[in-house]
Amino acid sequence: MITLYNTLSRKKEPLTPVHPDWVGLYTCGPTVYNFAHIGNLRTFIFEDILERTLRADGYAVRRVMNITDVGHLTGDADAGDDKLETAAAEQKKSVEDIARFYTDAFFDDLAKLNITMPDIVAPASEYVREQIALVQTLLEKEYAYDTPKAVYYDVSKFPSYGALSGQSLEEKMTGAREEVVVDSDKRNPADFALWFKLEGKFKKHLLHWPSPWGEGFPGWHIECSAIARHFLGQPFDIHAGGIDLVGTHHTNEIAQSEAAYDVPLARVWMHGEHLLLDGGKMAKSEGNSLTLAELASRGFHPLVYRYLVLGAHYRTRLNFTWESMEAARNGIERLYEAVNDLFEAAQAADADGGETAAKTPKRSLEHYKLEFHAALDDDLNTPQALAVLYEMLADGGNPKEKLALVKHYDAVLGLGLETAMADASLPVDNAEIAEKARIYAELRSNKQFIQSDALRKDIEGLGYAIRDFKSGSRIRKRFF
Ligand code: AMP
Ligand code: ZN
Repeated sequence: MITLYNTLSRKKEPLTPVHPDWVGLYTCGPTVYNFAHIGNLRTFIFEDILERTLRADGYAVRRVMNITDVGHLTGDADAGDDKLETAAAEQKKSVEDIARFYTDAFFDDLAKLNITMPDIVAPASEYVREQIALVQTLLEKEYAYDTPKAVYYDVSKFPSYGALSGQSLEEKMTGAREEVVVDSDKRNPADFALWFKLEGKFKKHLLHWPSPWGEGFPGWHIECSAIARHFLGQPFDIHAGGIDLVGTHHTNEIAQSEAAYDVPLARVWMHGEHLLLDGGKMAKSEGNSLTLAELASRGFHPLVYRYLVLGAHYRTRLNFTWESMEAARNGIERLYEAVNDLFEAAQAADADGGETAAKTPKRSLEHYKLEFHAALDDDLNTPQALAVLYEMLADGGNPKEKLALVKHYDAVLGLGLETAMADASLPVDNAEIAEKARIYAELRSNKQFIQSDALRKDIEGLGYAIRDFKSGSRIRKRFF
């Protein structure tokens, strides 16, 4: 049985799905005004592992992700401008073009990182009707009020406001009082907009829809409440996102959905910790963000980043450094190499009809399979799951069966290990490397190790890997 840490209860809980035969999973999607940075992508990798683990456990998963293409202001609450409209103005493009471009770029990033596409991807701008209906319900139940500039949610009407973050309503009120007052018609400073009207700073807002309160556009938080309920019902099982969403975005989602329908929005709330750079949260607004393209320009394959992320538990902060990327590259290279060795051993076993006796394993493959799932079922302990993989690889046993187990593991890890299950020896058509390899072998057979080591460095620098055996050396292109 899988156990997951629930931010709401502050403890690990066994998952008991609302519906016996499927798990509803909602993950907040990106705001598509720029390329996703690798901090954002860390959160999407965590959610991918969550989904893959649930599927490996035999659950049918219904996963929904929104795309924020309207209403997300730079201040996260009601301060600042709409992120998409600002990007559109800067790039002299339409808001729709900006959204389409960065949505496609985001999907490309997901594909490069082997992140499974959610079953349902819902752009906020296509679900405005559902959002309006929810705002209307909140007005009817008097959790919301209409003003000249916006329809606001009255946080003082929802006593458990802040339960997710542990911040009391009183603390939140005091905190909000110190912020810039955006609209003097707000009853409480912590109230937040459900619907913005084309008034004041939003007079010229490009995206707008008709509503019972005039032309306008939805606030950021209402989209997730409306889209989640539309596709998953309420309550559903798991709601996930990055840790920065706890205090405002998810707190407001809960306030909206639970006030409107008198049942919880989701049972389990899961949050991925931040990726840090130079000790601070990686963020576009802080100017310390990196994209996958920037990793690629430094020669790092996206799966090296996935491997780096899996090496840390999702609830720990991860400090990004180029040294740790280098270490991750060596780590995943060694992993591929071990899998490639296994592939060759399996082929050799095939060739001699299974004559070569495999080293007797210390533990059975069944044991390793259980250990692997136990690690993931313990709140997605990916570092432990990787440790089990390494232990299994180093142990004896039938290579073919081990290879099958690697494939089984990789259905969750998503490290593309099938690539290593093929002949990786150097193609003979690279004359330069072939010549170097010949000299390398000669130097070694003459025991000129200082020279052979220097040549090895040279060959490795060209992107090749050398391994020395009693029978001779083998060169292949590095996987990463
Ligand atoms: P956004 O595109 O800003 O709406 O964010 C998309 C996702 O990335 C959200 O789940 C955020 O919580 C998450 N996120 C933002 N910054 C970071 C970071 N530095 N590390 C990990 N996740 C982050
Ligand atoms: Zn959301």
